[in-house]
Amino acid sequence: MSDTSPYDLLGVRRRINAAGALTRLGGAVMATEVVAAMAAASRASVDIGELQDAASGRIAAATGAEAGLVTTGAAAALTLAAAASIARWDVAKMAALPHAGAFAHDILILRTHRTGYAHALAASGARLIDIGHNDRGTGAGVRGLEAWEIEAALSPAVVAMAFSVNANSVVDLPTAIATCRANGIPLIVDAAAQLPPKENLRRFIDMGADLVAFSGGKALGGPQASGILAGRRDLVASALLQQLDMDVAPDTWTPPRLVDRANLRGVPHHGIGRGFKAGKEEIVGLLTALERFVEADDATANAALQVRLEEIATALNGFDVKLVPASQTGRVPVLEIAVPDALAVSAKLQKGDPPIHLSERHAARGVLTLDPQVLLPEHDAQLAAAIREALAAAFRN
Ligand SMILES: *Cc1c(COP(=O)(O)O)cnc(C)c1O
Repeated sequence: MSDTSPYDLLGVRRRINAAGALTRLGGAVMATEVVAAMAAASRASVDIGELQDAASGRIAAATGAEAGLVTTGAAAALTLAAAASIARWDVAKMAALPHAGAFAHDILILRTHRTGYAHALAASGARLIDIGHNDRGTGAGVRGLEAWEIEAALSPAVVAMAFSVNANSVVDLPTAIATCRANGIPLIVDAAAQLPPKENLRRFIDMGADLVAFSGGKALGGPQASGILAGRRDLVASALLQQLDMDVAPDTWTPPRLVDRANLRGVPHHGIGRGFKAGKEEIVGLLTALERFVEADDATANAALQVRLEEIATALNGFDVKLVPASQTGRVPVLEIAVPDALAVSAKLQKGDPPIHLSERHAARGVLTLDPQVLLPEHDAQLAAAIREALAAAFRN
């Protein structure tokens, strides 16, 4: 292989990423095994529906769901999940989206779950209806989501409920699942960044969520523009139909196995998801990464990351640096670096050569977080030296 980076040829600087698998920094750094699988996949023609059927089997095995679909990211999975909840098997509704005014298209969402990614649900044509007070979620009080808050918002216009799961919100998930189930509406769970731990691949499905979205380009280590929608077979099938290229002759079209043609009154046209098709390379790359992720030994990997962080902490000796182990973060160990004007130090590091990124998640409380999730070991020493210099300069001022 040539040593010339395509980024050098393009004049684009490579960065040291200690901020985590952020999409804007290119997400995961893929293992060579995943890269090789994608390259091999690119060199043949296959039926994408047949490939997604195979993917469904692998995703089902990894998540415990009935079915699964490779998408172009968790955001795409959310749009498709919303579109599937609205259209189900109705090809006329599939053809109409995102214009959903003529039929039921409301999705309930806790006001405290309205993340920036809720836009992905609305992009389907769904109308989002805020519910609940969830004082526990906002920190204002003791009460979380209550069943009656969902029930009071139900109407024939409601097609689903959405739930953004994380370590804090998960306590409300059983109430959402039980109430949605009792009332026959699917619950869509955004679990995009809830890996690791790998147990979460199964956890929300096990609890009874109907559809769960994961990012493929974050901790899973798959292609940046990949994701997973796992869940109920009928809903995943509807999502698949709305993503596939449907420039097909109805007489010769062979639907994917996931799709029971008897449920369709016609052959769908290109759907709402056609603009974010998953390619054969992404599908194979995601499945290869998923298999590696499931088989990986998290404890050993986290112990190795912790040793690297201890060395970086030693190099930052004299500054206020705290190692937070994986047992406390619930994912990978991180270093918390306390500095008065965190954003100024972060900005300076980003302007360095090479540019360096720390997580700004806790900058408001004067902490920059060194997240080693996609940090390459060969960058450790250079990273530590640059942070040391930036901290020294910050404390001189
Ligand atoms: C990253 C993220 C997404 C979007 O994931 P992509 O795979 O980049 O589309 C959605 N929701 C949450 C909570 C996320 O963290």
